[in-house]
Amino acid sequence: MAGEQAVLLDLEPKQKEQTPGDARYAAKPAKPRFEPIDREQLSWRMVNVDRLIAEDHPARAIWEFVGKLDLSAYTSTVRAVEGMAGRPSLNPRLLISMWIYAYSDGVGSARAIERLCACDPAYQWLTGTEVVNAHSLSDFRVAHEAGLKELFVQVLALLSSDGLITLERVMQDGTKIRAFAASDSFRTEKGIQAAIQAAQEHVDAVDQTPEEETTRRAIKASERAKRERGQRLQSALEELGKLQEDGKDKQKARVSTTDPEARVMKHAEGGFAPSYNVQLNTDAANGVVIAVDVTQAGNDVQQLTSGVDHVEQNLGNKPRQVVADGGYVSRNNIIEMQSRGVDFIGPQSDDANKGKHLYQCRGISLEYHNSKFVYESDENRYVCPQGQFLPYDSKSERKSFVILRYRAEKGVCQACPAKGQCCPKNQKAGRSINRISEFPEVLDFREKMQTEEAREVYRQRSQVAETPNLWIKAKFKLRQFRVRGLRKVGMEALWVCITYNIRLWIRLRQGTKMAFAEAIGQG
Ligand code: SF4
Repeated sequence: MAGEQAVLLDLEPKQKEQTPGDARYAAKPAKPRFEPIDREQLSWRMVNVDRLIAEDHPARAIWEFVGKLDLSAYTSTVRAVEGMAGRPSLNPRLLISMWIYAYSDGVGSARAIERLCACDPAYQWLTGTEVVNAHSLSDFRVAHEAGLKELFVQVLALLSSDGLITLERVMQDGTKIRAFAASDSFRTEKGIQAAIQAAQEHVDAVDQTPEEETTRRAIKASERAKRERGQRLQSALEELGKLQEDGKDKQKARVSTTDPEARVMKHAEGGFAPSYNVQLNTDAANGVVIAVDVTQAGNDVQQLTSGVDHVEQNLGNKPRQVVADGGYVSRNNIIEMQSRGVDFIGPQSDDANKGKHLYQCRGISLEYHNSKFVYESDENRYVCPQGQFLPYDSKSERKSFVILRYRAEKGVCQACPAKGQCCPKNQKAGRSINRISEFPEVLDFREKMQTEEAREVYRQRSQVAETPNLWIKAKFKLRQFRVRGLRKVGMEALWVCITYNIRLWIRLRQGTKMAFAEAIGQG
């Protein structure tokens, strides 16, 4: 029986393989199978470094452009020479190209560039797949001030020879960029002295640490940090002295202990922050930045003449016309520009709103604003809105102009029904009006700015002047400097302007449909 059962079992139909169409498949679906991922394996890969990036990649154009520049200011200090022992130096052409490409890519940190060398094809193409150390990059960025300035001028010379700079019309504008310092790092003299004391105590405590508890590397890093901190605190005391010399109250004067040369400035987008004022002169023909300067001044009015000087130093000629906003318009600037033969275009002050806030503080209604008083030149007097006369009273002389004062009789104003709106606080005298005896240059400027032609030129200002500012902040992401101190900050501003000009050159060349190979000198 057992044998018959075995035969019967053997005769049972074999189970069929399930298929997606099978009803049983739907009832009990099989587990899906995927390609395995093996992360334990070791693999070799062939890399054609030159093909890591496309033929028209900006890194190639930057490399070729930098290759056209005379880098002797950098190479003359290199100690490793042919035929002598020693480790070869990093090529300045490589380091310059890396920084320019990095800034144009919105990268401003040496550590970030070092990381990108390991994984980003553009940086790998530039370095030939080597990783460049962050310290080398960081030191190089601020090491050759004269060489960098010369580089900026050389870039301008190349753009000028391509006809991209005309000096016909130059726009000047300033932008505030945050310093590498926190707002709460500002201290008075007492605070700085306390910080110096605390730093000294810290040094003494570290000196007593047993040597076996610290590594050589940690000692070196700690010594460097102490040295830099000490230098910054000494520099903070010096900056404080400068502020006091400029008339700042000794008790109230404060400087940052992180970046002593930074100043608290008002930003256009609102708020105050430790910052530097970056001045740019842009040639209107193609938008090339032809001069850059960084100052500690919170306003722009004193930067116009130095801006024109920098343009002349960089290009050997003055601009024919300079256009700037109201922050640059002053009697001195108008006279200075005319004496230099530079046509200055700027907005006229709005007389109707001039001193509006002051009028409100004095309780004067806008119907009795200075502009509502009529000057009668034949009689040399003013007529007020109530028809009363304000004859000439006195004059006071300033450095570059004379103020003529006209005043109404005290009794006339005291009896006037409009006194409460016109001069509510005048108890001992009648209402007065000041008239400035203007220089002919200022009168010429005002007349010029009434013309439609000058107004049209001024309307073009914002687009040309503000484009580099926007690029630097939005594309290159330089909303805060990554270095400290006026000299280094000035160098970082130069780096981004060189980058801006080279990227502009690449864009203009591509825009004119010129063969790319020709543009980068391979045609
Ligand atoms: S207060 Fe004097 S100046 Fe003013 S409206 Fe009256 S009269 Fe004229």
